Amino acid sequence: MVHVVLLGAGIGGLPTAYELRHLLPKSHRITLISDNPKFTFIPSLPWVAFDLTPLENIQLDIENLLLRKGINWIEGKVTALDPHTQTLKVAGKRINYDYVVIATGASLALNVVPGLGPEEGYTQSVCNPHHALLAREAWRKFLENPGPLVVGAVPGASCFGPLYEFTMLADYVLRTEGLRHQVPITLVTPEPYAGHLGIGGMTNSAELVSQLLEERDIKLIENAEIAEIFPEKMTLADGRILPFQYSMVVPPFQGVAFLRSVKGLTDEKGFVPILPTCQHPNFPSIYSLGVAVQLTQPEQTPIPIGVPKTGQMTEAMGMAVAHNIARELGVIEAAPVTPTLEAICMADFGATGLIFIAAPVLPDPITGKRRSSVAKRGRWVSWIKIAFEKFFLIKMRLGMSVPWFERWGLRVFGLSLVEPIPNRIKN
Ligand SMILES: Cc1cc2nc3c(=O)[nH]c(=O)nc-3n(C[C@H](O)[C@H](O)[C@H](O)COP(=O)(O)OP(=O)(O)OC[C@H]3O[C@@H](n4cnc5c(N)ncnc54)[C@H](O)[C@@H]3O)c2cc1C
Repeated sequence: MVHVVLLGAGIGGLPTAYELRHLLPKSHRITLISDNPKFTFIPSLPWVAFDLTPLENIQLDIENLLLRKGINWIEGKVTALDPHTQTLKVAGKRINYDYVVIATGASLALNVVPGLGPEEGYTQSVCNPHHALLAREAWRKFLENPGPLVVGAVPGASCFGPLYEFTMLADYVLRTEGLRHQVPITLVTPEPYAGHLGIGGMTNSAELVSQLLEERDIKLIENAEIAEIFPEKMTLADGRILPFQYSMVVPPFQGVAFLRSVKGLTDEKGFVPILPTCQHPNFPSIYSLGVAVQLTQPEQTPIPIGVPKTGQMTEAMGMAVAHNIARELGVIEAAPVTPTLEAICMADFGATGLIFIAAPVLPDPITGKRRSSVAKRGRWVSWIKIAFEKFFLIKMRLGMSVPWFERWGLRVFGLSLVEPIPNRIKN
């Protein structure tokens, strides 16, 4: 009998716990630990900030979900992990594990630019539920007293989808409220060009994004470095000053604090290095997935940026982790698998939306090409995004990870979540 412990009940941790429960016999214990009693569907947080959906609509109580599934639940913040004794500390208690799966997502590096962030600075964020609520409160006040709006990302940021989504949704909401003429909108990005998205762009993504910004009269400043933020203005490294009445700025991500304190576990940013199996290279009892893992930006951009770790990439890593642990335990007889890191990503812009399909997310380092790469625009994208949120929450309520029909649906688009490792090495 082994004890598998998962840290973090987010988009990665919860489906991975379900998949492990599905694969492992009941004699193996599975425990999920998270510092929040609720699961949050993070991609919908921009809607919360604009009052388009209440936070409760995208959250689920974890405890009830797990009890039914025979997964142990501990609510608490993990504060220490010892890979040598295979123990961790949560709420002062020591817990032993045979395997631990680190799915703790990101903490926000708000100290990289003075004045960044809603708590000790002057900009909003939609990167976690608490910040989305603060952003909503500030947005409500902004609607009463509108003025210039600046949406941006600072150097080192990696999550560019929400940057564009927030900008376009702001435009849409302001038009709906009849306030757009009072609000000049500026988008400031460290990407070398708009639509790069941290992945070297894809097909016509740059063209589509620039076209949308132009149509909506949104000023674009690309390849830009936000240097300092003050109560109602920010300065760029080249000396430009951007005044704002409301600003949402995406910070860089880093690994959560306790991971950074474990010797040899993470890189300097606190991200966990992984082998193709999602296993730690030096600690075989440790697996990791999602935003917590190290993915290196292969491209030298004039201003440093990271690689996005999207929901589908996270789920794929989770499925690989569950498969590989079950295989190591001899529960299934199969070759080890690796996540394909392919992604369908949808951005809702209110009256329209963009869908990106990148397989894989990062192009081949030698040819600079992907097997498949599509970017399309249309109102239908917003509908699919809303439907996907509902679908994901239903899956989590029912205790399903990635059901057969979802895997089948991905195959229709020529995508898969995992593949045998030798194939990937050959490619
Ligand atoms: C605003 C925004 C919009 C996005 N939109 C999209 C999108 O449209 N499409 C898409 O594919 N991707 C999108 N993403 C990316 C997507 O949300 C991530 O890929 C996904 O959330 C990663 O899942 P995760 O499990 O790694 O982290 P998370 O979902 O963040 O979960 C981490 C969990 O770990 C817990 N935790 C953290 N520290 C501890 C600790 N010390 N002890 C215990 N528990 C801890 C947290 O409470 C949380 O429950 C978006 C991201 C953001 C921020």
